[in-house]
Amino acid sequence: MNTEQFLQDVQARYPQAVIKRDEPLHIHTAFKTGGPAVLFALVDSVDMLSALVTSAWNSGIRVKVLGGGTNILAAPLGFDGLVIKNNCRRFELQGMKGKFTNNQMKLSQAYLYAESGAITNQVVRYVIDQGFGGIEFALGLPGTVGGAVTVNANYPKENMRIGRAVYAGKILTKEGIKDVDNSYFHFGFDESSVLKEDTVLLSVLFALYPEEKDKLWARAEEAVTYRTTTQPKNFTTGMTFRNMTLTNLYPNSSLPRDVTPEFLLEKSGLLGHRVGDVELWRDNPHYVLNHGSGTNDDVEKLQQVVKETVFRRFGVQLEIQLHALV
Ligand SMILES: Cc1cc2nc3c(=O)[nH]c(=O)nc-3n(C[C@H](O)[C@H](O)[C@H](O)COP(=O)(O)OP(=O)(O)OC[C@H]3O[C@@H](n4cnc5c(N)ncnc54)[C@H](O)[C@@H]3O)c2cc1C
Repeated sequence: MNTEQFLQDVQARYPQAVIKRDEPLHIHTAFKTGGPAVLFALVDSVDMLSALVTSAWNSGIRVKVLGGGTNILAAPLGFDGLVIKNNCRRFELQGMKGKFTNNQMKLSQAYLYAESGAITNQVVRYVIDQGFGGIEFALGLPGTVGGAVTVNANYPKENMRIGRAVYAGKILTKEGIKDVDNSYFHFGFDESSVLKEDTVLLSVLFALYPEEKDKLWARAEEAVTYRTTTQPKNFTTGMTFRNMTLTNLYPNSSLPRDVTPEFLLEKSGLLGHRVGDVELWRDNPHYVLNHGSGTNDDVEKLQQVVKETVFRRFGVQLEIQLHALV
């Protein structure tokens, strides 16, 4: 990595850019762990985001973009590259589709443009207020639009995922900026193509539909209530069990057909299990809590205990996913 060449290059071309050195990452992540990023920048324009990422790549420097830091575990050794905190927060309605009948416009679709650092909750509230549905189930989801789309964030109660509302996006790769449509993202279980190292999501276009505001607010408030009653508030990171459909993986197993990871963890006595200051949250094992001085090492040990115990008890190999900044 050629840090000095990168810093000189940035200073000469973008004097307004502020690059910090050795920025502690624990202050930028919800789980509150993580050592220093060798280089750190906070950006609030998409042009600057693209420029810094491209300059870093050209200098052989690895880049990681952080949205709200609510779904990532930063490594204790920090990050040997550039971490960019994405504060590109602009969003607006950019077009509508519909038909004129009897001198009246009947809307069928609206498009909402959001920069990837836009706060998900602000975007959701805005579109509901405009009378458009499609992402109301995301109210109460912490973080940014970029983070939500990158990990294809969900509303577990109804198994809704944000990826289904994505119409198009703008991404930055080493070949330059590209416009992509929904099919590019290959939205999956807590993942999308954006999670590849050399891709940065710059902006998103959501396709929304007209709906009565009262109905939208009712659905959104239900989602908030669901989240506040099933999710922890602080110092947490998500832990996903990828093989949710265990019966598909183990068709000959004698386990009940509706078995879920929650069921296996509960029956294995793992809910609330603690390693050091890290807990598999008793109320919802899809979250790991940091009670204060928890470390990533504790998280790793906890995962190991979970996997080994469930395997010993049920013969089921749980696949655990955590997004890591390493
Ligand atoms: C209390 C709590 C409740 C939560 N509830 C839910 C929930 O209901 N459903 C759910 O799915 N998740 C939930 N989460 C997890 C998390 O909040 C969401 O997944 C959220 O959408 C992540 O957004 P973020 O901006 O914080 O992403 P970050 O944590 O900042 O980033 C997540 C990943 O995306 C990458 N990334 C972020 N932005 C970009 C970009 N522009 N370009 C390229 N890569 C990028 C990061 O590098 C990282 O790998 C919850 C978390 C907490 C703490």
